[in-house]
Amino acid sequence: MTAISFQGSSVQPIAVHAAFDSGNIEVRRIADTSAWLELRPDPGNAFKQWFHFAVIGAAGRELTLKITDLNTSAYPAGWPGYNACVTEDRLRWDRAPSSFDANEDGGTLTIRFQPRGDLAWFAYFAPYSLERHMDLVAGSAAAEGFGHRVLGWSLDGRPIDCLECGEGDRHVWLFARQHPGESMAEWWMEGALAKLADRSDPVARALRQKARFHIVPNCNPDGSFRGHLRTNAAGSNLNREWGTPSAEKSPEVLAIRDAMDETGVDFAMDVHGDEAIPHVFLAGFEGMAGLKPHQKPGFDLYSELLAAQTPDFQTRHGYPLTPAGRGNPAMATNQLAARFGCVSMTLEMPFKDHDDLPDPVQGWSAERSMQLGRSCLDALHLWFARR
Ligand SMILES: [Zn+2]
Repeated sequence: MTAISFQGSSVQPIAVHAAFDSGNIEVRRIADTSAWLELRPDPGNAFKQWFHFAVIGAAGRELTLKITDLNTSAYPAGWPGYNACVTEDRLRWDRAPSSFDANEDGGTLTIRFQPRGDLAWFAYFAPYSLERHMDLVAGSAAAEGFGHRVLGWSLDGRPIDCLECGEGDRHVWLFARQHPGESMAEWWMEGALAKLADRSDPVARALRQKARFHIVPNCNPDGSFRGHLRTNAAGSNLNREWGTPSAEKSPEVLAIRDAMDETGVDFAMDVHGDEAIPHVFLAGFEGMAGLKPHQKPGFDLYSELLAAQTPDFQTRHGYPLTPAGRGNPAMATNQLAARFGCVSMTLEMPFKDHDDLPDPVQGWSAERSMQLGRSCLDALHLWFARR
């Protein structure tokens, strides 16, 4: 780094890098404490939205970070009203005031932040690293009554880890991070797994009596490590692969679906994040033809129980309903409802905030995602009691 003279004093320009697990940024230009940045798209160039980078050398000075060319990002509607996540201790992530201007430099998110120290990290959402994933898997596998198996292997050679527990005859599948940039989904998993493993929790003990749980905390470890938004190493959007998964394009989905075929599925939840909608919501399988009479009431009952369980969930805002017969069987929730006649659902958490109960300091956060994981199991316990 070269010292430059600025208004008579010697100051260092900042440095920006993303050469780490789930890192994603390209540096266009740096001047003093300002940086002009771009996102690196997923393979195939179709998706970009996730970012995760470090800034070095700005202690006590205000940073102006501009991520440009965002009108071509996957979800331009994700930027207005969004504040970037920032941490200095790598433990707690807060929000840095951010603004979006669609007319500046192809669409620019400007993040302003004055770090206390020389090191700060910025991300689209609190990241969930592959190291933490391995800690989660190892810790859960060692818990009393838990087992671990590898359902298959990713294209880069990573295991598709599945944790199992419970002695009941109903099969519950919980899986997350088909879309790797939706890191809140694995924070949700950490909360859910901790609750299920807690032998002092009566709800967890009752759930484990009633059901056998199969839990895949990260369906897409390659995309997670590579810093992708939506795809695996081959550029496949895994949640469009459930109709015809293949060893070449989507071995992760093929492995999970084959394992589901062996056990059957009574209840499934696919955990995601949504870029644009500032609410927690569920999406169902109402567009599929030939549903059994119990399926839609089962979905509605779970929604109602979860809304009663936590103010961090609501049923007024979400995706528009899919007309009957128009459901896409390449998506997990639709495929599982049709394939197994089960109650399946997609849980969406926000990148922005849950506007029904906003938190201006952290927005939607890793901590709230974990808490929601616990609440979803509480609702499942009530759901089993009512069916
Ligand atoms: Zn998603």
